[in-house]
Amino acid sequence: MEKIVFATNNTHKLKELQQIIGNRFELLSLKDIGCLEEIPETAETIEENSMQKAEYVYNKYKIDCFADDTGLEIEALEGRPGVYSARYAGEEKNMEKNIDKILNELNGKEDRKARFKTVISLIYSGKKYQFEGIVTGDIIEERRGKGGFGYDPVFMPQGYNITFAEMPADVKNKISHRGQAVQKLVDFLSRELI
Ligand code: IMP
Repeated sequence: MEKIVFATNNTHKLKELQQIIGNRFELLSLKDIGCLEEIPETAETIEENSMQKAEYVYNKYKIDCFADDTGLEIEALEGRPGVYSARYAGEEKNMEKNIDKILNELNGKEDRKARFKTVISLIYSGKKYQFEGIVTGDIIEERRGKGGFGYDPVFMPQGYNITFAEMPADVKNKISHRGQAVQKLVDFLSRELI
């Protein structure tokens, strides 16, 4: 099985992604390749941040790899939290506080439209590629559901009346921002393998 590094140590993401990718590729985590330091994420866009992470791993380990970066973009908040989604309420990256902050900022607002955007940056055989996935929906007023992670309890994708946190993982994976970006990545890699 072809090995490829997913530049993350988030076991939840790794598991979710291996489930989408299936058994054509074996995903290795940063820990698996002995990369234990925190990778810099200092850029100001989701696109640049994800490429910055992939380049860091590629330059240091010279191995095929990809990295993802995701942001929640809320229309009434001019696209915030966006690239700052993980640390919106502070550097401790506390999701409960992040969710409270967006709910407070949206308090009393009619327009609750939002979208998740994922950009995957791949460095494969020395060439760079990017794949994007977007899912639109609404931020509801109170948390619902116990599944998923991050902003899932307050994000209701368009066309559904349950949140991402109330959805079975396989349903979320089919429609999610990351699911779509990963599908593009997998389609690309499958073509490369032929
Ligand atoms: P990252 O780039 O994947 O680390 O994500 C940035 C932020 O968006 C983190 O706060 C995550 O919790 C959040 N996030 C990423 N993907 C999802 C998702 O599928 N559902 C909910 N929140 C997410």
